[in-house]
Amino acid sequence: MVKEKECTSCKKRIINDPSSVSFTCPNCLEVIIIRCGECRKKAIKYRCSKCKFEGP
Ligand SMILES: [Zn+2]
Ligand SMILES: [Zn+2]
Repeated sequence: MVKEKECTSCKKRIINDPSSVSFTCPNCLEVIIIRCGECRKKAIKYRCSKCKFEGP
């Protein structure tokens, strides 16, 4: 499991960010949403690449 993760919102690669989170899209439950600590702090929206669901 060395696949690099990148933030869904800003596309920043997440290397060692303990405040980053990843979760499945609450709408379609098929896409993994990844958010870096920065985007969480700024409450930047994410958008699911599959169903276009937007969330805070
Ligand atoms: Zn980000
Ligand atoms: Zn989705």
